[in-house]
Amino acid sequence: MELVFSKNYDIKLGPFSKIHPFDSQKYGRAMQKLRKMLSDKIIDEHLHIPHSAVDSEILAQIHDINYLESLKSSRNIATALEVPIAKYVPKFLLDKIILKSMRYACAGSILAAELAFISPKATAVNMSGGYHHAKPNKAEGFCIYSDIALAVDYLRNSNYLGKEDTIAYIDLDAHLGNGVAHFFIEDKAFKIFDMFNSDIYPKEDYKARERVDFPVDLKSGCKGEPYLGHLKELLPSFLNDIDNAKFAIYNAGNDIYENDPLGRMSVSRAAILERDLFVIRELNKRKIPIMILLSGGYTTTSFEMIADTIYEFLK
Ligand SMILES: [Zn+2]
Repeated sequence: MELVFSKNYDIKLGPFSKIHPFDSQKYGRAMQKLRKMLSDKIIDEHLHIPHSAVDSEILAQIHDINYLESLKSSRNIATALEVPIAKYVPKFLLDKIILKSMRYACAGSILAAELAFISPKATAVNMSGGYHHAKPNKAEGFCIYSDIALAVDYLRNSNYLGKEDTIAYIDLDAHLGNGVAHFFIEDKAFKIFDMFNSDIYPKEDYKARERVDFPVDLKSGCKGEPYLGHLKELLPSFLNDIDNAKFAIYNAGNDIYENDPLGRMSVSRAAILERDLFVIRELNKRKIPIMILLSGGYTTTSFEMIADTIYEFLK
């Protein structure tokens, strides 16, 4: 398993760190924890660093140009981030502290996607990303840019994937990956498996819900046992039904965790590890190159659960 990480991923909000429930430094914390659990040597052997953030030209390949222009005003950035108070912060600062970190994460997803094809285990984790609510012309749910659409665009333009090659997108974050559904609304090669809490945002995005090829609606409070039961029964059917996937994206949000304030589900830490191992092994078994993205997870335990999973593959 290859790891993609940059020190620029962490969003350092200083005194404003309480304005959003996000542990905006879970990426660096997960890396530090892994260095302690394993060793610097093991980590450094598998570590890949995106050396620059994606630029406006790359973003314009997938996002609406007027939307990208709108991100040049503090008011619009504040709306996009769903943090109203941010409109009083100068735009250069919002860009430098928050948006630039996200553009680094996008570069990381592109790098991880490529590593999935060229590394020996065909498995790469971007230690950030998974901005699955971002739409072509709109930010939502703290997701500004679609690292997922960018990675797919890169793979297709670099001939790792043909336009018709099947991509399996597996979204196990507690929230429906509505932005991804909108990006690939007419793209038949992009197959979506999404297990999500249907009681929470974005429950009114019916268009996205309808686009999902294999939706698994769950309810608030869903516990680990039924969760894993559904996953183990349905994911193999999804993978068997779709035409030989040439690439898989696993959006591994751990906001299904029992104490997560946004996901509102009730899955234990042990069950989340079991979930991750099951998904990755199902894909490895089928020899499908896989990119893993961290996505949501809003507790102080989130970074530890990320480390739990990666540890199993590098120990
Ligand atoms: Zn989520």
